[in-house]
Amino acid sequence: MIKGIIFSGMRPTGRLHIGHLSVLENWVKLQDEYKCFFGIVDWHALTTAFEDTSELQDNVRRMLLDWLSVGLDPEKSSIFVQSHIKQHGELHLLLSMITPLSWLERVPTFKDQVQQLGEQGKDISTYGFLGYPLLMAADILIYRADTVPVGEDQIPHLEFAREIARRFNRIYNVELFPEPKAKIAKIAMLPGVDGRKMSKSYNNDIHLASTPEEIWEKVQMMVTDPQRIRKTDLGNPDVCMVHTYHKFYNPSEVEEIRTSCQSGKIGCVQCKKNLAKVLDDMLAPIRQRREEYSAKPELLREVLEDGAQKARQASEETMELVRKAMNI
Ligand code: SF4
Repeated sequence: MIKGIIFSGMRPTGRLHIGHLSVLENWVKLQDEYKCFFGIVDWHALTTAFEDTSELQDNVRRMLLDWLSVGLDPEKSSIFVQSHIKQHGELHLLLSMITPLSWLERVPTFKDQVQQLGEQGKDISTYGFLGYPLLMAADILIYRADTVPVGEDQIPHLEFAREIARRFNRIYNVELFPEPKAKIAKIAMLPGVDGRKMSKSYNNDIHLASTPEEIWEKVQMMVTDPQRIRKTDLGNPDVCMVHTYHKFYNPSEVEEIRTSCQSGKIGCVQCKKNLAKVLDDMLAPIRQRREEYSAKPELLREVLEDGAQKARQASEETMELVRKAMNI
C-alpha cells in the first residue's frame, strides 16, 4: 500500500558530492513507501547556465550514474530526464497564464540569486529564471504529487506550488491538483573542506565518484587547529574541519579522537588519514557500482527510456484533464 505520490529532482549542473548523499539516501528509503518520480531537471539547469551547455549531456549521464550507484532503483521509481517529458513544458506554459507576476517576483530566492550570481559575473535577469519556481511547480503538479521531500530552504518554492494548485482548481472549478505537502528531510548541511558552503565553484567538495587519491587530496586541504604545531600540542577540535567531518561520518570514533586531540596523543596527519579512510570506506561501494553501471550504456539508456515512458503516461493523464478544464 503506497502512502502517496512523490516528485523530486536535481539540476544536472556538475558532479554530485557527499553533501548530496543524505538527500539521495532519503530518496532511496522513500521509494519503498511512495510512488516516486525522480527527474534530472535539465531545463532547470539552463535557467542559470544557458550560455555554455557543452557539459549538459555529460552532467545528465553523471547524475544518472550517481543516482543508480547510491541505490535508486528503476524497478521501484520512475527515473527520467525532464526535457524528455514535454508535458512539463506544456503545463508550465499553461500555468504561466494564470500566475500573477508579483507571485514570482516575491519568491525570496529570486532577488538574492540574481544579485549573488550577478556578483560572479552571471546575468540571470531572464524570463526563464524568473519563471523557474513555476517550472518547479509544473514538475510537481504534472504528477499530481501529494508529497515532496524538501530541505527547509525549499519550503517557499513548495508553498508557491501549493498556491498555484489552489488557484488553478479555483479558477476552473475543479479538484484536479492536490496541494503537495512538504516532507521535511533532515539534511545535514556539511561545509566544504575549507569551511565555506560546499560547492563545486569553490572546489571544496568531495565528489561521490572520488578515487582514494582524490579523497586524500581534499582531506589534506582541511584546516586543522592553527595553534597546533606538534603532535604533542594540546589541540582544540572545535575549530578543526577534520573533526567536523569525523562528527558526521565517523560517530563511533569521534569521542576518542576528540580526547586524543585535546591530550596531544594523535597527530593531525594521522587524524586526516583516519578520516580519508572512513570516507573511502563509505564511497568505495558507490564507486564500485558506478563502474559497473558505466560499463553498461545500454542499461542506462533503458533506465531513462522506461522511466520516461512511465512519466509520460502519468503526465499525459494529467494534461488531458488540464486541457479539458481549460477548454483547449
Ligand atoms: Fe583536528 Fe584531528 Fe588535528 Fe585535532 S588531531 S586538530 S581533530 S586534525
